[in-house]
Parts: sequence; C-alpha cells; structure tokens
Amino acid sequence: MQEAIKQKQKRMLRLVKSTDAIKSEQKPMIDSEDYYKQVERYAEQIRNTSNADEIIRILDVVLSETKGLRFSDEVFAAQEQVKRAEQKIESLKSELEQLRGLVQTDQMTGAFNRRGLDDVFKREAARADRNAQSLGVVLIDLDNFKQINDNLGHQYGDSVLINLVNVAKETLRPSDIVARFGGEEFVVLLPDVEMEDALTVISRLQSNLAKIFSIQADTHSIPITFSAGIALRSFGEHQNSVISRADKALYQAKRTGKNRAIPALS
Ligand code: GH3
Ligand code: MG
Ligand code: MG
Repeated sequence: MQEAIKQKQKRMLRLVKSTDAIKSEQKPMIDSEDYYKQVERYAEQIRNTSNADEIIRILDVVLSETKGLRFSDEVFAAQEQVKRAEQKIESLKSELEQLRGLVQTDQMTGAFNRRGLDDVFKREAARADRNAQSLGVVLIDLDNFKQINDNLGHQYGDSVLINLVNVAKETLRPSDIVARFGGEEFVVLLPDVEMEDALTVISRLQSNLAKIFSIQADTHSIPITFSAGIALRSFGEHQNSVISRADKALYQAKRTGKNRAIPALS
C-alpha cells in the first residue's frame, strides 16, 4: 500500500511538471511566472512527504491556485489546459483519498485498522491537548469468543465482530472513533468525555449489542458480551501508555467476572 502511494506520488509529480506545457505556450507574465514557481515549490513538498494527508493538503492548495489562474486574463489562451489540469488534480486527489481509506480500514468490519488508529489517535490527541480536553480511550475485548467460534462457527464469530462495529457506530457520537485493535479486540476513542459519561456510553453499547443477539437467543445459549477498560488520556500522554492503562483495567474486568467496564488508574 505504501508502494501504491509512492506510485501515485510519481504520477502527481508528472502532472505538476506537465503544467510546464502551459508555460512554453505563454509569453512570460508576472502572475503565471509566480504560479509556476509556486508549483515547483509544491512539487518539492510532495517529493519530500509520503504522508497521504499532507499530499492531499498540498493538492488542495495547488487546485485552488490553479482555479484562480483560470480567471486571470493573461492565461486566457491556456484556459482549456488549465481546466484539464484542474480535473486531473481533482481525480488524483479522490483516488488518493480512496487509497488512504483502504490503507486505514479493516476490511471485514469497516472499522479503522491499527494503522488508521495510529493516525486518528495522533489527530485526536493533538486536538485534545490544543483545547485542553480529555480523550477517552476504551479497550474492548469480546467475552468467551473462542467458545463462540467453537460452538457456533467461525462465520458466526465474524458476524458478531461486524455487528459490534455497526452497533458501536449507531450508539456512539459521530465524532467518536472505532478501531479494530486485534482479532476480537477494539479501541474506541471518545473525544472530550468524563469518566462517568464514558461508563454510561459503554454500558449502552453493551446492552445494544446484547439486544441484537437476544433476538437469536433461542438458537443458542451463549450471550454476546464484552469487557472493557476505560482510560482518560492525560495531557501529552502517548498512545501506548494510555492503551496500556486501559488494558490493565480490561484485565480487571475479565478477572472480576467479564461483561463489565472498569475505569483505569491514572
Ligand atoms: P476472554 O473472555 O478471556 O476474552 O476469552 P476469549 O475466548 O475471548 O479469548 P481468547 O483470546 O482465548 O480468544 C480469542 C478468540 O478470537 C480466538 C480467535 O480464534 C478468535 N478470533 C480472532 N480473530 C477472529 C476473527 O476475525 N473472526 C473470528 N470468528 N474469530 C476470531
Ligand atoms: Mg482477546
Ligand atoms: Mg476475548
């Protein structure tokens, strides 16, 4: 996938270079000269990054400057070419956005994967620090999942994982984030939350999940439950540290009987 982003980056550089064609057909003019110099600077920035978010941000700037150029008289003759360049930039941007989505998503559940979580965590942690807000980090692990697989089949197990993510998306706020951390473990990020509200929302998630599977309860006798550890990230705290605190609380939840959420020590 990293290779695919590199390829896309190469194509974009070619595109940025191809705007030289516009230059050769135009008399040198102040505004367009500035534009080409800018484009070279952006090309340099794109060369120096492999971060899809950063490339998309640069393309947005190039796009808006290209759009501005279209309305300038001095490049009237090159309007068609500029328009084509604009369309190319737009379509590369959306391809890159799609690719970024694939790279960051767990295919089976549609939740973020580990890589997606890393990126989103950085973004949310920075936002929390900037606004002096908390960030709730919940580690969820399905209870007796091995037994669920063994008794009801792996496919049924898969459907539990998919349903958990769907129910979580319905139960949580749109700004909350769900990521698959490992096999049957998930991380939920709750921006700007107090422990009491985090406990309430996770308990609502537990009962909503139980409700879905209780409809099918007569076909089996294993309840679908999960345990959770909830940590509130402190200012500047690293992802590994806060997840490790949540993991200790999760361990307590398992040890004291499962199907419960326990706040982490700070
Ligand atoms: P506990 O209540 O202590 O968490 O017990 P558990 O059985 O859930 O824990 P354990 O870690 O022993 O088992 C996790 C199981 O999750 C084992 C593995 O086969 C299953 N699993 C992991 N990924 C998937 C998946 O993608 N699909 C399915 N169906 N099962 C999975
Ligand atoms: Mg586990
Ligand atoms: Mg488990």
